[in-house]
Amino acid sequence: MKPLSEIYPLLKQPKNVVITFHQKPDADAMGSALSLYNFLIQLGHKVTVISPTNWAAFLSWMPGCRKVLDFEMQTDKASAAINKTEWLFCLDFNTMNRTKKMEEILSALPCVKILIDHHQQPQVEVFDYGISDVNKSSTAEMVYDFIVDSGHADKIDTSVAECLYAGVMTDTGSFRFNSTTASVHKLVADLKDRGLEHSHIHEELFDNFMENRFRFFGHVLLNRMDIFYEYNTALIAIPQADLIKYNVKTGDTEGLVNFPLSIRGIKLASVIIDRGDERKSSFRSKYGFDANTFARKYFNGGGHFNAAGGKNTEPLEEVVRRFKIAIKENKEQLKSYQF
Ligand code: 5GP
Ligand code: MN
Repeated sequence: MKPLSEIYPLLKQPKNVVITFHQKPDADAMGSALSLYNFLIQLGHKVTVISPTNWAAFLSWMPGCRKVLDFEMQTDKASAAINKTEWLFCLDFNTMNRTKKMEEILSALPCVKILIDHHQQPQVEVFDYGISDVNKSSTAEMVYDFIVDSGHADKIDTSVAECLYAGVMTDTGSFRFNSTTASVHKLVADLKDRGLEHSHIHEELFDNFMENRFRFFGHVLLNRMDIFYEYNTALIAIPQADLIKYNVKTGDTEGLVNFPLSIRGIKLASVIIDRGDERKSSFRSKYGFDANTFARKYFNGGGHFNAAGGKNTEPLEEVVRRFKIAIKENKEQLKSYQF
């Protein structure tokens, strides 16, 4: 993978560009992609943003979101854009299998592939250019660096700034995680100096849910949560019937895993959801437990040290059974404390 700086001189020649990110994008995936989109169109590029799947309604306020294609719903249109693209930007993921049904078409694509990502263990052989840095708070922070380092800070208008802020703010847990460096605060100060109004972004992202989500949370916290105190672990396992009963939509489960994590003493909080086509898991940790390695070893996944996820094809009961074995195997790490 060659350094990103090698493409800075090429940015001035308009190209067909596709930007994509991981399935079920969060605010960092969508925010980093749309900030890059709103930047590149100012340089005259023809840019298409393609999501592997649908996304949460609380992302739809982002400038440019109306133009994003959903690969599952608009396969022909998205495939046509992919097939004529000269540059493919891959943001906020680093292994092609995170793009679900797009994996095949992307892997076979002859165009230039560019990675901008902050997850562990990238599939570097797949990308021509890029940067993979686990010390970065968010992919949005890396897109900010890309814009500034390539000499185009003047292109950070409101639409770019709002999307960047959304990504950085959410991936730092509203500026609370260790990844919130001085550079992150300087970035936000710079966006503010450029006219960013931030408080409405918090409202769009966090105060925008429907009643059913809270009824659903109430139900699962009461009826689906198990606490394994001997392992400092909490698990919420959700059958598909609950999603149907409470009309749970994409994005409604975002944040659920933080509730068991906020219980005193809990080192590992997990949510496993039967989404029908797969069993999707989310892991969050504190006090020094490595969620990335756990997700990678037992759940075909990965992510960050304190926030990771995975997926399984087996039935929910079987995934829960494996989870219980996995925490037994990690008993020593789960019992000890490192502050
Ligand atoms: P979440 O629990 O919010 O879906 O994901 C937490 C973190 O783990 C995110 O950084 C996300 O990109 C990563 N992650 C979630 N699911 C998977 C997965 O199936 N595979 C990998 N490699 N990473 C995942
Ligand atoms: Mn991210």
